[in-house]
Amino acid sequence: MPSDVFSRYMRMAGHDVLMVSGTDEHGTPIQVQADKEGVTPHELADRYNRVIVEDLHGLGLSYDLFTRTTTRNHYAVVQEIFEGLYENGYIVAKTTLGAISPSTGRTLPDRYIEGTCPICGYDSARGDQCDNCGNQLDPSDLINPKSKINGETPKFVETEHFFLDLPGFVSALNSWLDTREGWRPNVLRFSKNLVDDLQPRAITRDLEWGVPIPLADWKDRGDKRIYVWFDAVIGYLSASVEWARRSGDPEAWRRWWSADGEGKDANAYYFMGKDNIVFHSVIWPALLLGYSGEGDRGGEPGPRGRLNLPTEVVSSEYLTMEGKKFSSSRSVVIYVRDFLERYDADALRYFIAAAGPESNDTDFTWAEFLRRNNDELVAGWGNLVNRSISMAAKNFGEIPALLDPTAEDLALLATVRAGFQSVGDLIGRHRQKAAIGEAMRIVAEVNKYLSDQAPWKLKAEADKPRQGTILHVALQAVSDCNRLLTPFLPHSAQKIHELLGGTGVHAPQPRIEEVEDLDGGPSYPILTGDYTAGARWEPADVVAGTPLAAPKPVFRKLDPSIVEEELARLGG
Ligand SMILES: [Zn+2]
Repeated sequence: MPSDVFSRYMRMAGHDVLMVSGTDEHGTPIQVQADKEGVTPHELADRYNRVIVEDLHGLGLSYDLFTRTTTRNHYAVVQEIFEGLYENGYIVAKTTLGAISPSTGRTLPDRYIEGTCPICGYDSARGDQCDNCGNQLDPSDLINPKSKINGETPKFVETEHFFLDLPGFVSALNSWLDTREGWRPNVLRFSKNLVDDLQPRAITRDLEWGVPIPLADWKDRGDKRIYVWFDAVIGYLSASVEWARRSGDPEAWRRWWSADGEGKDANAYYFMGKDNIVFHSVIWPALLLGYSGEGDRGGEPGPRGRLNLPTEVVSSEYLTMEGKKFSSSRSVVIYVRDFLERYDADALRYFIAAAGPESNDTDFTWAEFLRRNNDELVAGWGNLVNRSISMAAKNFGEIPALLDPTAEDLALLATVRAGFQSVGDLIGRHRQKAAIGEAMRIVAEVNKYLSDQAPWKLKAEADKPRQGTILHVALQAVSDCNRLLTPFLPHSAQKIHELLGGTGVHAPQPRIEEVEDLDGGPSYPILTGDYTAGARWEPADVVAGTPLAAPKPVFRKLDPSIVEEELARLGG
């Protein structure tokens, strides 16, 4: 959601935006789960990809392309980046120790091995990563490793794998991180600490599910694959390439990526939860540097030329639910589709923006969701929209004229217009919580103006021009506030635009399209859309005489009983 709010704001402010992502579908957990269900990993990935595409569509996330990592296009781009790094000497083969299950003889996935972290001493570190200190690990690094599947001690056997020479990027990464501005301080600090401890990392696994290794003696081997953490981050580039190929201009990706060409002024923002910082502020930049020939070993840029590194890595903290960690197995969860079946997308978008884990771990409670929805969204913003439009509709049937505005009228209009600067600036600096707070503060000012001016008391015929002027000011303020809230609340913004007599697209929405794989693979659903139309980030004068009808409420007041009902659904 933060990436969508940012993209919508940037588009409204007149910037060109390309927003891409996709489902990341490789890795041992997919293989293990597929085995458990007796389906292929691809079948399992198909199922979840479709669920996720539908969920993101329901939330109104305005992707130019939301794709997946099992496309042939993605495989080809991953292999290209691998080859570029290999050519430049940043990928080297090594014999290493791999874990197998002594009872079954099969490779034991990293994440299914648990033990004590050799770096921080945390006793439930996984074989791929320590969730306490954030360092990436190899299973053979763990002290007292145990299989999470059956508790046995894994056997480590020699196996050949490719390693990424991460120490070769320490100085390039440090120089780059030193030039970063505006990052959340904890993200920058955390990233710098990670760089100091970089070790060579295995980027292939004994696994059948994943992108094949693009080297002569390895290509056709069924038992070795590029590992998910290497291929998944390349998805941002491959999605951009796919978007360009689908747009009819296969080179259009360069406008966003080419560091020496058309993309040299492009900014790249990455949004994630804090458990993914390492991949975006260290691993992905290292891959881009190596491909561009800019680590300690030097080298030449690959065929795509030098590529842009992230401008900013925007990381959120964790969200818990009713004081507990989200867990599908313990039913501490609300699935997006269930949420959207019972509540409106904008109610959730409002909560996440106003009370989400932007810079602190945050707890979602149903009582707080109810309070925010009813007291802020409905009683604050919804009530302002509803009472100003219905009063104008009832008394004038149209937007009344602005006649002899008073100092109070002009002061209120100025307050609202100043929001384009203050709210926009906060969204631009990724302070969305403060931004929506500022927008809602302005909404409260408009509500106070209406209460102070009390246009409902001006019933005499002689007072009608003044009543009309107050309502004109209120409707102008509603129209401007609606634009300030559009990046956060696009669904209701479209409805309010129409209630004010507006036509056409105010807040564009994504659509789901079933597409053929561009290179002959199976078809799949994507999220895409045309976002060229829509409101700009600037005030627009409402036009006196525009017909108005009695409005239907845009936001739904929720019954307090939903708290008990939702808590009863939770386990844990
Ligand atoms: Zn640790």
